[in-house]
Amino acid sequence: MKTTEVSDPDLFARLLEDLEERSAPTRITPEARDAYAKLTAAMEHHRPPCADDDRFTAGQVLQIEYLARACAECPIRTECGTYAQLAQPTAGFWAGVDYTEGTS
Ligand code: SF4
Repeated sequence: MKTTEVSDPDLFARLLEDLEERSAPTRITPEARDAYAKLTAAMEHHRPPCADDDRFTAGQVLQIEYLARACAECPIRTECGTYAQLAQPTAGFWAGVDYTEGTS
């Protein structure tokens, strides 16, 4: 699985948009906000495998094994998983876990 550094500001903006689309957090606590800030800061330096990949978004989580492998090799998995645990998104695949309502 290939990850690359993010040097293109447009790409970074798309990564953030993708993250917000997938997010739908249910717990907007100060800790979740802090974790989100750390996740987006990490994304400034590393493009995660899920970038621009619709398979990670709500309603598309079908290829669980592929997604789990991608997350296992992701350089920002820790930040992603911490945010998801704190914010409890209602959709999408985060750090190896499917958060689609009723499945996690
Ligand atoms: S751990 Fe998975 S869902 Fe999280 S940023 Fe990396 S590839 Fe994306």
